[in-house]
Amino acid sequence: MLSRYWYAHHVMASAEAAARQRLVVALERALPPLNTTVPVNLNCAIATPVISLAHVQQLGRHRPRERWALAHASNYGDRVTVDVHGNPTNHLLLVVLHETVYSAASAVDYFQTYHERDEDQASYHAIITRSGEIFYTVPAHKRAYGAGNSAFQGEQVQTNLRIAASVNNFAYHISLETPLDGQNANLSHSGYTEAQYRSLAWLVSRTQVPWQRITTHAAVDLGGERADPRSFDWQRFAQYWQPYHRLQQHYCAMLANRQLPARESNAS
Ligand SMILES: [Zn+2]
Repeated sequence: MLSRYWYAHHVMASAEAAARQRLVVALERALPPLNTTVPVNLNCAIATPVISLAHVQQLGRHRPRERWALAHASNYGDRVTVDVHGNPTNHLLLVVLHETVYSAASAVDYFQTYHERDEDQASYHAIITRSGEIFYTVPAHKRAYGAGNSAFQGEQVQTNLRIAASVNNFAYHISLETPLDGQNANLSHSGYTEAQYRSLAWLVSRTQVPWQRITTHAAVDLGGERADPRSFDWQRFAQYWQPYHRLQQHYCAMLANRQLPARESNAS
């Protein structure tokens, strides 16, 4: 016979499971994970602060406007698992930030134009307009041509003998639309809008990339020509990124917990 203690415990456990399920659904809605097919080093084991359903739903209300503006297939390629020399590629995902210099519309125009020559082919995965709207131009699982001759802490992949090695194979390229006073080669301009920082924080968090693997085109460029994104305010970005990061960490931890029983049974 089942005791009422068992019954009380059972009811509490199922109520807890239902609450957890509601939280996972809300987390997925607020910050849908972006699948780039490139691995990310998730630190789910770290204990995350308790987060309420109301808090998640509140953050979820700031979801940016998104739309597709797919680039022409000549301007991007596949992410390869073996480089041009036959070595396996095993880098972790890297977020590379850029700016458009000219309008977002002109960048989309360029990416949607067929380019025959390797040196003319270019693209980002996403562009964030002045109003914070996100234009997705290359699918996340494809290799956008955002940075030519480039490396991140020595990491680079060569996919074509005629083209210098770059970070493109493991990068997710995001570009911010430049303000009007930056449509030139000056060293700085008036910067990006709050809406852009907010949307950027949301999009970067969707990739699940940790802070130390968020970089800029200027930092990875080996040609010494790229300075973008100019006038980028890291502190402002960090302020918007933190809450989303906590959300993402919590989601990650909840998924890890949910998978625990299955892992235990696999091991036995
Ligand atoms: Zn760039």
